[in-house]
Amino acid sequence: MTFQDLHLLPALLRAADELGYKTPSAVQAAAIGPVLAGRDLIGCAQTGTGKTAAFAMPILQRLQSRIDKTHRPIRALILTPTRELALQIGESFERYGKYLSVRSTVIFGGVGQAPQVEALAHGVDVLIATPGRLNDLCDQGHIDLSLIETFVLDEADRMLDMGFIHDVRKVIARLPAKRQTLLFSATMPQEIAALTKQILRDPVRVEVKPPSSTVELIEQRLYKVDKANKRRLLVWLLKHRQEASVLVFTATKHGADRVVRELTQSKIPAMAIHGNKSQTARVKALSSFKEGAIRVLVATDIAARGIDIHELPLVINFDLPNVPETYVHRIGRTGRAGRSGLAISFCNFDELVYLKDIEKLTRQSIPVVEDHPWPMEIFEPTLKQPRPPRPSKQQPQANARKQPGAPEKSAPKQPEPARAPAPKPVPVKQPPAANLPETTHFAQQSAAQPSKSPARKYRSDPFAPPGKVVAFADGRRRPRRRSPGKQQ
Ligand code: AMP
Repeated sequence: MTFQDLHLLPALLRAADELGYKTPSAVQAAAIGPVLAGRDLIGCAQTGTGKTAAFAMPILQRLQSRIDKTHRPIRALILTPTRELALQIGESFERYGKYLSVRSTVIFGGVGQAPQVEALAHGVDVLIATPGRLNDLCDQGHIDLSLIETFVLDEADRMLDMGFIHDVRKVIARLPAKRQTLLFSATMPQEIAALTKQILRDPVRVEVKPPSSTVELIEQRLYKVDKANKRRLLVWLLKHRQEASVLVFTATKHGADRVVRELTQSKIPAMAIHGNKSQTARVKALSSFKEGAIRVLVATDIAARGIDIHELPLVINFDLPNVPETYVHRIGRTGRAGRSGLAISFCNFDELVYLKDIEKLTRQSIPVVEDHPWPMEIFEPTLKQPRPPRPSKQQPQANARKQPGAPEKSAPKQPEPARAPAPKPVPVKQPPAANLPETTHFAQQSAAQPSKSPARKYRSDPFAPPGKVVAFADGRRRPRRRSPGKQQ
């Protein structure tokens, strides 16, 4: 099938051609016709399948056919869960509608409302919005949704996950009963299935292949590495690889910030994008990355949801996700729309269970790279214990452990996006090698101070060359061999 077969306006065909779209993606081929014909639609498709064009192109065409330049009520509403996704959809409407006179604007929370209100006052045909800000501006009387002709509920399952379903229902209550409704959701939890029955009339169903099948396009590699050495491995890899843009996923927001600090220290330009960052910081990080001003973007799952970056050659899972579908979503950021890409994952001993789940879901085993400077040396799960106090920067690590009676300094607890049960590694801070006496033995220390030291029974020899096995799973250490020349 070609785009011409879809009966799209020449202006849309021209825009698609300029974007390099040769043939419609599966969701586009199935959805564009029915949406042009005014049908309701349920699309089981996720970001990365080309679903934005699947709804944006026919909506633009329908709007263009009856544009009144003197009076522009909002005629199409796209409701989407995150600001990033809203901005991206806004960009797509601009790109696909480049040769049309349809006007669109994007509104979302976390920023001042004045510029958004001003844009709305000029009149727009398409509004792309997140639910909170939309309800807010409706309540203030800045937005009237009574003339909406087409309503798109994007990433409905994500709306549910993020606790927006109440806001979504509030928006739906503001819409006219007679309208076209398109609902997109990667999965169909019960609540969303129930919602579809309430808000859609005789919908066409479009389902694109489940996400696990997209994995086949992507080259994958696994590096088994101890948690404490992940950051070293990351720097080493980035220095040895040529990719100009790399998206790195971490499990936590703190983790993302830590990785950015490490990379910056190693002179690798990087920024983080996560929920603790202001909207301005997130937009800046994303645009710096897209423009090539920084090489590495470090993201948590929620922040990265829906981010579309063109020709992303490499994704690195600094931490493996404990939800296997998340792995598929993450690596789907590379190898998009038929392009091939590479996904590298780091896996420490505790994450081997996640690896098993991922390989079960994708029905593939990820090739392991053995030849790297920091192979896994710890083959025991770390026990879950309270985080030890952070060592002060001035003190050597060996003396930095909490003294009896000293006040407990607890690190602020961060909600972690997609990591929950399963064995979770205790964060082990590896100090600068020179601060640790070679004879430090964590097994002895933890026996003497069970509640104050990490659960690790041994650690890498800080003076051993990278990759050399210096400890065994039972806690024994391999004695250091002296080089013959240095024997006294
Ligand atoms: P989406 O799922 O809408 O976020 O789209 C994912 C990516 O695929 C975006 O970078 C689009 O520009 C690109 N894309 C969408 N449709 C096509 C197509 N028919 N051919 C090639 N690339 C496309």
